[in-house]
Amino acid sequence: MTAPIGLHIPGFRGDLIAPDHDGYDDARAVWNGAVDRRPRLIARCSGTADVAAAVRFARDRDLELAVRGGGHNVAGTAVCDHGIVVDLSAMRAVSVDPVERIAHVQGGALWGDVDHETQVHGLATTGGIVSHTGVGGVALGGGIGWLMRKHGLTVDNVVEAEVVTAEGEIIRASADDHPDLFWALRGGGGNFGVVSAFRFALHPVGPTVVAGPVFWAAEDTTDVLRFYRELVTDAPDELGTVVRFGTIPPLPAVSEELHFRPAIAVASCYAGPAEDGERAVRALREFGTPLVDLVGPTLYVDHQSGIDDTVPHGWHYYWKATDLAGLSDEVIEILAERAYRATSPRSYAAMFHLGGAVARTPRDATAHPGRDVDHRISIDAVWLPEQDDSVGAAEAAWARGFLDALQPHRAGVYVNFLDSDDDPRRVREAYGDDTFRRLADVKGKYDPENVFHNNKNIPPGKPAR
Ligand SMILES: Cc1cc2nc3c(=O)[nH]c(=O)nc-3n(C[C@H](O)[C@H](O)[C@H](O)COP(=O)(O)OP(=O)(O)OC[C@H]3O[C@@H](n4cnc5c(N)ncnc54)[C@H](O)[C@@H]3O)c2cc1C
Repeated sequence: MTAPIGLHIPGFRGDLIAPDHDGYDDARAVWNGAVDRRPRLIARCSGTADVAAAVRFARDRDLELAVRGGGHNVAGTAVCDHGIVVDLSAMRAVSVDPVERIAHVQGGALWGDVDHETQVHGLATTGGIVSHTGVGGVALGGGIGWLMRKHGLTVDNVVEAEVVTAEGEIIRASADDHPDLFWALRGGGGNFGVVSAFRFALHPVGPTVVAGPVFWAAEDTTDVLRFYRELVTDAPDELGTVVRFGTIPPLPAVSEELHFRPAIAVASCYAGPAEDGERAVRALREFGTPLVDLVGPTLYVDHQSGIDDTVPHGWHYYWKATDLAGLSDEVIEILAERAYRATSPRSYAAMFHLGGAVARTPRDATAHPGRDVDHRISIDAVWLPEQDDSVGAAEAAWARGFLDALQPHRAGVYVNFLDSDDDPRRVREAYGDDTFRRLADVKGKYDPENVFHNNKNIPPGKPAR
């Protein structure tokens, strides 16, 4: 056991949580219960000044440093062994300027915090589809969600970031201030500093939207996907869809006899007038013989938290992911054949439809280059903490086998979906060679010693001049 490093950081006002503290185990736990790391100190910051103090403290003592936003990353990079966690979980304030349509969001906020404050004004920005996911990781890695085809990725909506650098300095990054850093932050993850606050562009959304999933029996997967492929080819930008392969989750709205039945779902959200939304999803709802149809007018803010309970904190998770250039018959066959081989009824795969505004934004506008792909799939093995290790091993093998089967059709990967055992070369795969080199140059300028390396790391290159 490494010795504690004391309970004093000069200029720090938040909570310092050491291994002998009562709240230590809760404070070091992240969303993925399979992650078990023991930092020497958790610095729960109360504001930007604390973040700067904690970064300087770690740096001066050459301590390992991890940055925690929402703590949701499956790889558990929000927490490290031995070092210090700069924990933003107490920095969740959100304020909205409804006239300028801007949200000011602290770096530890969750998407539920953002939706809650913005929807009061009938506004929203693209965020993750689970409300307990952190803004920080999503907004720095890419940000895919229901609104992206209409309003772009989360990174496309970041207009400014307040950044604590590896030197502990507080700077602003925007199109006018440190534009190289601003570009890199919007896709390059936590490599360049701690973002203590974001400013996001907002758009009119809802508050009522037509949204929800339709489920069909797993045996119908091939037919559903062939139909779905046609549907989304000409879909309006307002229509966001996610296909879910797995079992029907035990949601309150689903009758008990259908719980955990193997099924494919197409979930949708129409970010426009309800009548148009009803029209856009009618064919989907009328296709084949659905087992359950939960589509209807709903509050956007409720839709955003509708599947929260299916992926709770503390269960064990293991992900494999890839982007897909298209849904050929061959890909559909692989999906239908592999998706239901998991033994845990909680394992699933989620496939997001991209295109629209995501694809129209130039590839080099931000450091998230994966814009020309059709779909993005995450294969998510899930098991319970009390289950035997062999269950986890079997589920993980299912996810790896599924990804291997998709090998010939892979077209990059979303950096935020990479897990801890993914080959570090997959980080380069996520960015592509050009973006990766450009990111390495910006890293060389802002973090030449790689202080921020507990992440999907981009090693520093030669600083850009
Ligand atoms: C259930 C679930 C649903 C998801 N749904 C979506 C989705 O719909 N769309 C989507 O795009 N992604 C989604 N994701 C993936 C998500 O983008 C990543 O897990 C992301 O890393 C989560 O961000 P976080 O702040 O919660 O994570 P954390 O684990 O806290 O952070 C991950 C890393 O990001 C960096 N980081 C976080 N905050 C900051 C900050 N303020 N400043 C500097 N660095 C920071 C750090 O390097 C940290 O190690 C989902 C994940 C889960 C588990």
